[in-house]
Amino acid sequence: SAVLLEVDDLEVTFRRSAGPGRKAASVPAVRGVSFQLEAGTTLGIAGESGSGKSTIARTLMGINKPSGGSMRLNGSDVGALRGRELAQYRQTMQMIFQDPYDSLDPRMKVSETLLEAIKLRKDKPASPLAEVYQLLDKVGLSKSFASRRPRELSGGQRQRVSIARALCVDPRLILCDEAVSALDVSVRAQVLNLLKDLQEDLGLAYLFISHDLSTLRFMADYVGIMYLGKIVELGTRDEIFERPQHPYTRALLSAVPEPVVVDRTVRLPRVRLTGEPPSSTNPPTGCSFHPRCPLAQEVCRTTAPALRMTSSGQLAACHFAEPEQVVAEA
Ligand code: SF4
Ligand code: MG
Repeated sequence: SAVLLEVDDLEVTFRRSAGPGRKAASVPAVRGVSFQLEAGTTLGIAGESGSGKSTIARTLMGINKPSGGSMRLNGSDVGALRGRELAQYRQTMQMIFQDPYDSLDPRMKVSETLLEAIKLRKDKPASPLAEVYQLLDKVGLSKSFASRRPRELSGGQRQRVSIARALCVDPRLILCDEAVSALDVSVRAQVLNLLKDLQEDLGLAYLFISHDLSTLRFMADYVGIMYLGKIVELGTRDEIFERPQHPYTRALLSAVPEPVVVDRTVRLPRVRLTGEPPSSTNPPTGCSFHPRCPLAQEVCRTTAPALRMTSSGQLAACHFAEPEQVVAEA
């Protein structure tokens, strides 16, 4: 299927002022991230907090400015868009956050929130209110919700309203940043199923950011694992969950409460993750994961491993991931 979004070598650096008498620090939040997202599919992004997951979404939304690299949507360079094209781009992509309280105006009725978003549309519907009811129906809420305010809704209902609002402008891509993380397990499953149904009906693509691997296992077609601003492993859901190659991915999977069945043919031992991730202001030399990696060797301290194709099909950035077999021609 067609590539909807292409992110190439994206860099995002923040300036952090360090207080009186101290030099401002530059924080490399995203360091050379590349991926493609096909129309109608889901790319999950996992990693601990501070790994740069949210920064990628915020940069795509134009909230953060990239310091390098490119983002292309349907083939056009996002950085070069102006005026009407930029407005159109903004509608193609919508974002849903962890806490809809942050994004839903507490004073506005659900109908007002949705009508405000419908107004942004190029093609004005004949009856905006009928459109509101239709949107509510799409997200599994009855007409009676139109007159309610956010505080009169449960967490799951608020998230359904956020989804309805995102759908108002007929987006192609929805960025979900920890969108179900605050919900309890049964409500979470309902919202995830709703997102899947909407994907099937509307052909939506999702960039699904979550620290929760079981959520990604359920939602994602492809998964990228981030560590200190870099993607360290990228592959299909099965490659990542059944044949993980990178020690950090294996550590994350080992930490999942319900043990994930790991392919016994993989020779890497189980990896325990110890310690906090180092500060992203000064990422460790070589492989950024080396201070926490039980498999680290001297080369890991000096040389950053490139993200390269492995024998099991995914990309991994580890000196000791098994490289793709290159078959010599006879
Ligand atoms: Fe561990 Fe070295 Fe691989 Fe980094 S390159 S993940 S430190 S073994
Ligand atoms: Mg975050």
